[in-house]
Amino acid sequence: MIEVLFTLITLPYAPNALEPVISQETIEYHHGKHLQTYVDNLNKLVAGTEFESMPLEQIVAKSQGAIFNNAGQILNHNLYFLQFKAYNAAAPSPVTPHPSPLLDAIVRDFGSFEAFKAEFEQKGTTLFGSGWVWLAADKDGKLVITQEPNAGNPVTKGLKPLLTLDVWEHAYYIDYRNRRAAHLQSLWQIINWDEINRRYTE
Ligand code: MN
Repeated sequence: MIEVLFTLITLPYAPNALEPVISQETIEYHHGKHLQTYVDNLNKLVAGTEFESMPLEQIVAKSQGAIFNNAGQILNHNLYFLQFKAYNAAAPSPVTPHPSPLLDAIVRDFGSFEAFKAEFEQKGTTLFGSGWVWLAADKDGKLVITQEPNAGNPVTKGLKPLLTLDVWEHAYYIDYRNRRAAHLQSLWQIINWDEINRRYTE
């Protein structure tokens, strides 16, 4: 009997709420099957080890191999799924954040919100293979964009993860097939900037 230490996050929106940007079918596979598998794997892997009582961020910072891969994928997906809000066809597209400390920092560190978006999309489009692109902050609040392969997360570099693009094919293949760039461009319409600003300022 394996003790359940880590659990699947509950989505703060209905499974069809992100359509047409992300379909209900993609959510059902990505959250309900891929993420569930990482959760099940990690619970088996950490049982009886030093990692079983650690928070995810700490496991990711200290582990390697299979434990790192599964813990990293849970941490990454939790941040990914919780960064979205229901699609609103009436909202301007892409939605820009209202005035916020995060927006001020984006303009300061990238020149403009449009320049940030272009660099973020470009890094997502050019990351070879599977992985994640992150907007992250250092201890002084300076923003950086990092490309992380496979299960990587900028916490391993001492950075705070804020916003991410999942460029594993399972994130977009049902809806966009091979068109990764089109998928990444569409995501701006469902980003919950209040949540990203909260992560930046907490
Ligand atoms: Mn994924």
